[in-house]
Amino acid sequence: MSHKSPAELRSEAQAALAEFRGLEKIRARDRLALPQQEMPAQDPIVRAGNMHEVTHGYFEEQARVEAERCLQCKNAPCVEGCPVRIDIPRFIGHIAEGDYAASLSVIREASLLPSICGRVCPQENQCQEYCTVGKSLKDIFKSVSIGRLERFAADRGAAIDASGATPLKGSVSRTVPEVKPATGKKVAVVGSGPAGITVAADVRREGHEVTIFEAFHKPGGVMVYGIPEFRLPKKIVEDELHTLEEMGVEIHTNFLVGRTRKLKDLIEKDGYDAVFIGTGAGLPRFMHIDGENFVGVFSANEFLTRSNLMKAYDRDRSDTPMPIPERVAVFGGGNVAMDAARTAIRIGSKKVSIIYRRSRVEMPARAEEVGHAEEEGVEFLLLKSPTRILGDENQTVIGIEVLDYELGEPDDSGRRRPVPIPGSESVIDLDTVIVAIGNDSNPLITRTTPELKANKWGNILTDEFGKTSMDKVYAGGDIVLGAATVILAMGEGRKAAASINRMLRGEADPVTEA
Ligand code: FAD
Ligand code: SF4
Ligand code: SF4
Repeated sequence: MSHKSPAELRSEAQAALAEFRGLEKIRARDRLALPQQEMPAQDPIVRAGNMHEVTHGYFEEQARVEAERCLQCKNAPCVEGCPVRIDIPRFIGHIAEGDYAASLSVIREASLLPSICGRVCPQENQCQEYCTVGKSLKDIFKSVSIGRLERFAADRGAAIDASGATPLKGSVSRTVPEVKPATGKKVAVVGSGPAGITVAADVRREGHEVTIFEAFHKPGGVMVYGIPEFRLPKKIVEDELHTLEEMGVEIHTNFLVGRTRKLKDLIEKDGYDAVFIGTGAGLPRFMHIDGENFVGVFSANEFLTRSNLMKAYDRDRSDTPMPIPERVAVFGGGNVAMDAARTAIRIGSKKVSIIYRRSRVEMPARAEEVGHAEEEGVEFLLLKSPTRILGDENQTVIGIEVLDYELGEPDDSGRRRPVPIPGSESVIDLDTVIVAIGNDSNPLITRTTPELKANKWGNILTDEFGKTSMDKVYAGGDIVLGAATVILAMGEGRKAAASINRMLRGEADPVTEA
């Protein structure tokens, strides 16, 4: 990754834009020749010591150059790659014209959370993977930066609104969506992650009463307790929740459905006409190796929850206990592992290593996150897997034993299979282990509601409209899909909300072809 200063990036974009606008006739090859715009970011050494957002977002000139790279393809293959089918060429076209209000309203036709998805969507595996520009330049990382442009359009609106300034030409204000007159029907939403937020908004708009029940003391789901502040500022999620409250949605925190109240009671005793379950995949997986219960071993969820939700990083103001680990190993190679490693660096750990049993190419984490982690000083110990965790007489972690691997033939997933090298064990001294090898569905509701059908991994089974095996009960997001993404959870929420709204109007779901 290059390290141009924000000022350099801006002046390069100004020059590129001036040259491009000076062209007599603009051809596709002129668009392809425009430089892809790098995201301005905090200096790696500085940001490794703070929790502020790593990237700053595009300058206006950069957004205009990036938007001009789009070929406005008639068939728009990028749209196929977006789970909620945002009209990508249309929103980018408006950015190229400088009409950011129009751009944001195009995005909002399909997505409720553009500031969030523009930041955290795995764009290179979704919309950008299909982009004609990336294909023409034979490098998907050179595709039009659709996610960054989405963030630009969304932030431009929010920034103007937050400052209270008179909206500039092409900018918009945050508006509270209109709510239809009261219908007298009420809907319970269990869980306040992206799936629950989306259902709450779409159902409330129709005039139904909506109450969200959230187990934690703060709403927002993984966007608040899992994804760190330096990737997704919590203020953005808070604003979305604030909009919901302004629409009249009630949010009850510290309310664990399955314990505080049973799911069936919400319908049979409390009179809810429909319930949506969006409880996510918050159950951490473990390695099941010796020493995993020693003091100093965390699941990534616990580590990140303590740091993000419980603000353990803010040592002067937070009472949340969190030892400062000296030497940390993070097991896993996904986004959650990168978040945990980068958080450990920020709370003051001297050395943080990712331990992953395949090579960098097979790592499931986004390339950008891996690059950022490396720049911030995270060490990558690849082709290694832990075999046991070593402890002292107090069962406190003092090290790990790892086994070396080599890559064999591709497995069912298409990734080369890691093959252990017998006798290659070695020991690494350390004091903290963070296990980040994946999450399963939260099991409480299915365990306490035998009528609710789930598969063998605990994911609730639904039809294509989000209906579960129980009358009036719908589900969506990670609790149905298994650990997935924010945009997929939002898409599932939209689908289920549409079906709930139809049911409450007394209409049937449309017939779909088998
Ligand atoms: P969640 O966001 O998990 O929300 C579920 C909510 O339900 C939680 O608040 C939980 O407390 C609550 N709940 C659970 N049980 C109950 C109950 N019984 N009663 C009441 N409330 C309950 N996705 C991306 O797209 N990009 C990323 O960069 C990304 N990074 C991630 C980083 C981390 C560390 C993690 C863990 C996940 C990441 N994901 C990312 C995945 C993404 O966050 C999830 O796919 C998404 O949040 C799922 O949304 P959801 O609404 O289904 O559930
Ligand atoms: Fe791409 Fe995600 Fe935006 Fe869809 S929501 S256009 S996949 S960044
Ligand atoms: Fe633009 Fe790429 Fe979509 Fe074509 S595929 S419309 S170039 S973003």
